[in-house]
Amino acid sequence: MSNTTGVNNYIEAARKAEAKRLSQFKAMKQCRFDTIAVHGMYSMSEALDFNQGAIIEPLYMCTAQGYRDADEMEAALSYQIPTWCYSRIANPSLYYFENTLALLEGYGYDGETSCLATSSGMAAIQSATDPFLTIDPEHPGQPINFVSTCQVYGGTFQQFSLRKSDKANVECRWILDSTNLDEWAAKIDKNTRFVYGELPSNPGQSFFDLDAVIELAHSRGVPVIIDNTVGTPALLRPIARGADIVIQSVTKTLASSGFGIAGAVISRKNITSRVGPDELKADFATYLKGLPNRDNGPNLSPMNAMLSLADMRTLRAKVDLFSRNTLHVAQYLEENPYVERVDYLGLTDHPLHELARRYLFLVDAEQDPQYKTPVNRYGHLMSFRVKGGAPAARKMFDGLNRIWRATDLGRVKSVATIPAISTHSQQGDEGREMADIPPNLIRLCVGGEHPDDVIADLEQALAVIDGTTRKQVPAEYSVGGASNPLLKDGGDFKR
Ligand SMILES: *Cc1c(COP(=O)(O)O)cnc(C)c1O
Repeated sequence: MSNTTGVNNYIEAARKAEAKRLSQFKAMKQCRFDTIAVHGMYSMSEALDFNQGAIIEPLYMCTAQGYRDADEMEAALSYQIPTWCYSRIANPSLYYFENTLALLEGYGYDGETSCLATSSGMAAIQSATDPFLTIDPEHPGQPINFVSTCQVYGGTFQQFSLRKSDKANVECRWILDSTNLDEWAAKIDKNTRFVYGELPSNPGQSFFDLDAVIELAHSRGVPVIIDNTVGTPALLRPIARGADIVIQSVTKTLASSGFGIAGAVISRKNITSRVGPDELKADFATYLKGLPNRDNGPNLSPMNAMLSLADMRTLRAKVDLFSRNTLHVAQYLEENPYVERVDYLGLTDHPLHELARRYLFLVDAEQDPQYKTPVNRYGHLMSFRVKGGAPAARKMFDGLNRIWRATDLGRVKSVATIPAISTHSQQGDEGREMADIPPNLIRLCVGGEHPDDVIADLEQALAVIDGTTRKQVPAEYSVGGASNPLLKDGGDFKR
């Protein structure tokens, strides 16, 4: 038997706390981007009322909340009051992180946004897309599809082409030329469940007319999901332009120090969709958090949430610095005789520069005393192709002394990779050809070093191509790492 009075007292108290939370969210929406990034939802009263006055959001390394009595437990576990019941479902550190990111991705958008943190960017993509690929009870046997740009992160390519297409009756339709609106229009039909795009894409720097694609998808009743990892909310906020859902690999530029893996799904209220329950449409990220992800469990640890939050506080300044450094390096590479082609949207002769210039702006530059006017910035991901094919590219790559060879990006340290043998190896020759990722392409993510030092490293490494010396692996070397079930029969990654 419920003790109705007791439960109701807790509900009443929770209502007041909820109103306070909402007023803090609304107050923060009035602030500038940097202020949101620094303070998020963590006000002085939040600190004094709940956190011993700690000036920095505390790290809640704990599994569950204790309750005063049965009434509070009943009210909490029946979701009648907000609760930190169990950290797979809710945790205060996660809450501070998620709401800060919801505010940053929702900057410049009048409505409310919500955020769900996940254990990785890939978990965010799976969390955001799977709920749309359900059976339609009215047409149970009908094939369904989703439409995506083919120039996406390698892991996304695998998830879409293998994991999702393996499901019964689900078809992944790749957009081969994302600048061609007719192709989008031809591939979106009445069985399309969502439209997915990555821009600028990793590593190819492809870009499309986001506003036009959103308008087209919405006219057909289909939600738009954008991977905003490379742009970050410091340069692009798809939700303010009408997109329904944003994906972040928080691992990358948002958490540029590189302490760990993290992801997030951010959504607007009342998304467009022809399928799914009302709660899914009303508040997608909150729905995911409370239901599918509660049951599936791909949540983020509080530690990674706090490390990411700490990194995000200076996001705007960092993205500005990294972008300026990258432009400098890209201009240098364009002039280098060993380089066949440079892809960076910030280069004025890049075929997509004019399009990208309409979308990628450093947030709040008009209000920055340093600029006082809108300023385009293009992020810190670029790629270049080395003359002489794969052998020359590998030789140059091996010659790098300061730029890290790693399958990583978004770092405060410059990192390079050869996507054809790393991030995008699994999608095979055909998949790489479709996404235009040749074996002589080097992806470079320029960090916070002085750009002249990055250039000096590139210069000496490119000079190695002509030289007779090639760096040799030392006779005695150590191999670190865990073994992988794919190691034994090598090659066949299509599992
Ligand atoms: C790295 C990356 C992902 C995947 O994120 P993880 O955190 O590594 O799981 C998704 N999209 C883009 C653009 C990425 O660069």
